[in-house]
Amino acid sequence: MINNMPSKPLSVMVVDDDVLMLQQVSINLGRLAVDNIVLADNAKQALSHIARGDRFDLIVLDLNMPEMDGIEMMRNLAGTQYQGAIALFSGEDKRILKTAESLANAQSLFVVGSLAKPVTEAELADMLNKARPTAHQEKAVQPTQVDSVSEAELRSAIHSGRIVPFFQPKVTAKEVQIESAEVLARWQHPTRGCLSPFVFITLAEESGLIDELTFDLFDKSIALYSNWRKLGYDFTLCFNLSAITLNLVDLPELLNEAVTKYNIPTGCIELELTESQLMDNLTVSLDVLTRLRLKGFGLSIDDFGTGYSSLSQLSQIPFTELKIDRAFVHGANSDPAALAILESSIALAKKLDMTIVTEGVEDKVDWDTVVKAGSDLIQGFYIAKPMAHDDFSYWLTQHKQAV
Ligand code: C2E
Ligand code: CA
Ligand code: CA
Repeated sequence: MINNMPSKPLSVMVVDDDVLMLQQVSINLGRLAVDNIVLADNAKQALSHIARGDRFDLIVLDLNMPEMDGIEMMRNLAGTQYQGAIALFSGEDKRILKTAESLANAQSLFVVGSLAKPVTEAELADMLNKARPTAHQEKAVQPTQVDSVSEAELRSAIHSGRIVPFFQPKVTAKEVQIESAEVLARWQHPTRGCLSPFVFITLAEESGLIDELTFDLFDKSIALYSNWRKLGYDFTLCFNLSAITLNLVDLPELLNEAVTKYNIPTGCIELELTESQLMDNLTVSLDVLTRLRLKGFGLSIDDFGTGYSSLSQLSQIPFTELKIDRAFVHGANSDPAALAILESSIALAKKLDMTIVTEGVEDKVDWDTVVKAGSDLIQGFYIAKPMAHDDFSYWLTQHKQAV
């Protein structure tokens, strides 16, 4: 039934309060030649297996359980070393399963899909195939890389100018013209090539290097941006700010100085802050954010939809832009729950008078979906990937909007 079964023994844990269901799935898994099957009739028991260090390739998880439900169990699982896959299992309707899947993905859990009850052997086989270690090895690469980069290496990279800006355009939905460019950090490593920010941003935050990294990148990018403006290009520039940097009470003054040096109006600069980081420390941030806005900088909520902010919390901060996370953009056309979130987020942002950006537009279907939903600006691989400054300069010449 399963093609290309891995030679490594497969280990699966099934978590469901319905004991009959546990038995049925267990019989099916046995037929599918799963070597180790662990059954847990509650989430606490399941988590204790993980805490003990038991290794599983797949956890089949029921969403609706008394005491700790499946959503809560996933939240707990996200804080553990669990590296395997999850298949969600529920008698609930498909939309609940899809939403739960998005929630899990937002917590970087690897969800291979959802199973409506009663589950068939073929469906289980499909989940097992997707859960095979090779299917998600790529995901597992990143934490290993993070571990292997040291603080000293990062400090030296910042000092020797190896952290460089890449630029990714955001274009207007109507005229398909560049409206702004987002600066994305890259580490040009002498032996490992171009390293993703996933490898070093968290480390920079944890080791107190993030402010230095941010200012260095800001300076470099503003210098390049100033040249593009001299050539007549008229787009805005966006930076990702860590919430830690908002603890600098003189941040508005420091950024203002940096742009004034190049005669750039603050209104041309936008600062992106992720929704989840903001909500962790709203009071401290509010002061600095309000003063940044007073100085004229634009403020954008990044990764919207992945945090748990409420409308009233959001309306406290004078944001100018809302970026809807790609989890609700790419593939939204065939995912009713994602589409609902996309459409309602856009309606919300319009009411709050914010510019709406949809990120993660990867193909024509995504493009058509977000245009129809009313997105103002669009960003994603379908338009352009993040580019080094010379490639971006060339891209600009090819997408003439110079005045
Ligand atoms: P982000 O701010 O949400 O940036 C968007 C990420 O999505 C970028 O990843 C970009 O390359 C990627 N992306 C863009 N279009 C598409 C698409 O169509 N499909 C897919 N699958 N991905 C797309 P990148 O450059 O690896 O950056 C990852 C994250 O690292 C950023 O997420 C941001 O949170 C953080 N980051 C990057 N540069 C900085 C920085 O200078 N400072 C801080 N604090 N964080 C940064
Ligand atoms: Ca961003
Ligand atoms: Ca984002």
